[in-house]
Amino acid sequence: MIDLHLHSTYSDGVDTPRELVAEAASRGIRAVALTDHDTVDGAPEFLDACRELGVVGFAGVEISAQTDVGTLHILGLGVDPGNAELANTLVRIRRSREDRNRRILEKLCALGFPLTWEEVQSYAEDDVVGRPHFARAMVARGWAETTAEVFSRFLEKGAPAYFERLKPSPAEAIAVIRAASGVAAVAHPACWIYKFPELERRIDGLVREGLEGIEAYHPSHDSVDVAEIQRIAREKGLLVTGGSDYHGEEVKPGIRMGTGAGSLLVPDSLLEPLVARVGRGSGFAGKEVLQ
Ligand code: AMP
Ligand code: ZN
Ligand code: FE
Ligand code: FE
Repeated sequence: MIDLHLHSTYSDGVDTPRELVAEAASRGIRAVALTDHDTVDGAPEFLDACRELGVVGFAGVEISAQTDVGTLHILGLGVDPGNAELANTLVRIRRSREDRNRRILEKLCALGFPLTWEEVQSYAEDDVVGRPHFARAMVARGWAETTAEVFSRFLEKGAPAYFERLKPSPAEAIAVIRAASGVAAVAHPACWIYKFPELERRIDGLVREGLEGIEAYHPSHDSVDVAEIQRIAREKGLLVTGGSDYHGEEVKPGIRMGTGAGSLLVPDSLLEPLVARVGRGSGFAGKEVLQ
């Protein structure tokens, strides 16, 4: 079992990078990737913990890109966490969150929910503050039962406190991941476009922009999705990846590391081609484990 899509306290997860690796080791997960939104700041702690606990580890990132058919999440696996170009781009993206977050707060206040910035921030340990932090603060105030309810009533696209932030294009996201020596892979593609002929056409365009991988295994995919995405990957020569998108029970209830909603099983066989591509880079730990 492997799990190449995990979030920590450096973005909107509830476990520190070290806690994620410890949990993976105790569950017998052989390889993990830290894919926080818009930051690689957790990578040094994560890779150190992987080396100490004998788990194969990839430093990673998840970048939201703007497309004409909605937001597309792009994973960077095996990125060099010290790469300056990546760092600069991520700083710019995080700044666009600050403006968006202020607007969300204003909208919630106008709707009669006077949340303070301090309350929202108290759920975030680093400088990536996202909507899940707003959702947790709203639940803590008793204004909703669950974070999912906060999203549907207030925070998702079309809801009254939603505010669009500036996002890079897919080409920009792919380019910066590759500049940092990582594999750029589309995350949970079926969440972006549900119809396979259209998805396939869109993937062709992304491949021309440098895409190298695609996430087939994800809790939001059923077995038909997995099979179709694997076929697309095979035909286009893309690396296949997969993971639980674990954030912690308080953020994504019912999603566990390794097993997702219960039936996820990301095969170990995905590891070898990924290691062949990024295994020499500074965004990778675990050569010793694999030998
Ligand atoms: P942000 O990066 O601030 O735009 O927030 C994105 C995060 O919100 C991701 O971790 C998503 O998993 C989470 N999210 C997005 N839509 C929903 C939803 N409808 N219900 C629960 N969580 C969501
Ligand atoms: Zn998240
Ligand atoms: Fe995502
Ligand atoms: Fe994610």
